[in-house]
Amino acid sequence: MAVRPISITGDPVLHSPASEVTAVDDELRALVADMFETMDAAPGVGLAGPQVGVGKRLFVYSWTDDDGELWRGVAINPTLWQSPLSIEPLDDDSESEGCLSVPGERFPLRRADGVVLRATDLDGDEVEIEAWGWLARIFQHEYDHLDGILYADRLEHPFHKAAAKAVRKKGWGQPGSTWLPGVDHLED
Ligand code: ZN
Repeated sequence: MAVRPISITGDPVLHSPASEVTAVDDELRALVADMFETMDAAPGVGLAGPQVGVGKRLFVYSWTDDDGELWRGVAINPTLWQSPLSIEPLDDDSESEGCLSVPGERFPLRRADGVVLRATDLDGDEVEIEAWGWLARIFQHEYDHLDGILYADRLEHPFHKAAAKAVRKKGWGQPGSTWLPGVDHLED
């Protein structure tokens, strides 16, 4: 197992739709093991294939809920049903989100409160998870990565502009930028 470099916004792999996983083989199992290790090293609560330069439809997640229950797994070729978006005003604190491919930044973004994730696991079994709150947000964020969408793409005014400015300031937004958890320490 190895920690893999994480692609930073601007790399084409993050902005293109990923392709279906066609086989669960040793190569895929090694990729998933590396993705868990990379996510934990970052540290992060989710990591999608494109973020380690692999344009395939899978992501890993690891999150402990308020009751101390650990939600950790891999979703291969997922589908996602989402509840309608609330029209309440955005809460800048409780609805803020970040991304390992836009490291060190956080911006408020409205997400659906509830989702149903259906995916295949490494044994080829169908998994269905109904998620609410933060886990639902993680699933939406990671699922978006598989369609080439970063959370920064979804931000509304004035956060969209602030994110674009941060990307420019850090010299991101071009192909080939990566960072390596445990080696590169990114300033906030
Ligand atoms: Zn992300």
